[in-house]
Amino acid sequence: MKEKLAEKLKRKGILLLDCGMGTNMQKAGLKNGEECGELWNADSNRDKVLQLHRSCVEAGSDIIITNTFGANPIKLTHYRASDRVEELNREGARLACRAAGDEVLVAGDIGPTGDILEDWGGTRSRDEIRRGYERQVTGLLEGGVNLIILETFMDVEELLLAFEAARKLSELPVIASMTFEAGPNGMRTMWGMTPEQVAQRLEEAGADAVGANCGMGTRDMLQVAGEMVKGTSLPVAVQPNAGVPELCGGETFFPETAEQMAEVAGEFKTAGVKILGGCCGTTPEYIASVKSRLGL
Ligand SMILES: [Zn+2]
Repeated sequence: MKEKLAEKLKRKGILLLDCGMGTNMQKAGLKNGEECGELWNADSNRDKVLQLHRSCVEAGSDIIITNTFGANPIKLTHYRASDRVEELNREGARLACRAAGDEVLVAGDIGPTGDILEDWGGTRSRDEIRRGYERQVTGLLEGGVNLIILETFMDVEELLLAFEAARKLSELPVIASMTFEAGPNGMRTMWGMTPEQVAQRLEEAGADAVGANCGMGTRDMLQVAGEMVKGTSLPVAVQPNAGVPELCGGETFFPETAEQMAEVAGEFKTAGVKILGGCCGTTPEYIASVKSRLGL
């Protein structure tokens, strides 16, 4: 049986996550906005997903994240695939587990629905969203994940619905990660919460680790990380982007190099971050650079 997340953390002190799945899949040919990346888990592109997971394992990730970020029924409806939620999550989990081998942990990835809760004037009820996430968790569990990661959420209430689904169906550890933006009042979620408030809220709810990912590069993320650490006694997990994307000749370009991210890695450690990876624009090379810089 694989070492549990908490044991692994205790033994190693700091754990490495993997790199941004979506942007790497686009490099591998996924048509952004037109094509559903999660369908790759169950079609002839599945080897590309497997290969990306393997590259992250080779680069030194302790935890790899399944290609299931948008595999909830609401998002899959846009691709007429809402009847395939369990299958796409199960197959995504299986691919990651194949690449992970005996040592590396597999985190089942769950992202936001992209819709707004009824409570805030949207059209989706809490029940509908929670039930959708239960289907997603069911597939991830069938595929054999070792933990669950809820990431890139902007609304903590939506994240908590996914959290309830995970807790209802399993006892696996849950990493709960939100996205922040830098504004005139400092770091805030889209709905105005500070990193400290988010960390407290997620700890109270019973998450095993809390964190922040996407939306910003390493420097801003370092600030968010420091504030989160203040708000919680739980392990803090962060995944910065490779800088803020710029448009360059119609192509999205991420300005921070692997070397630049590695330079900040020690500061994340000093700030108290326990789980570190990369989000959009990062590649296995970033993970390898961070690993080498931290002497892991
Ligand atoms: Zn991202």
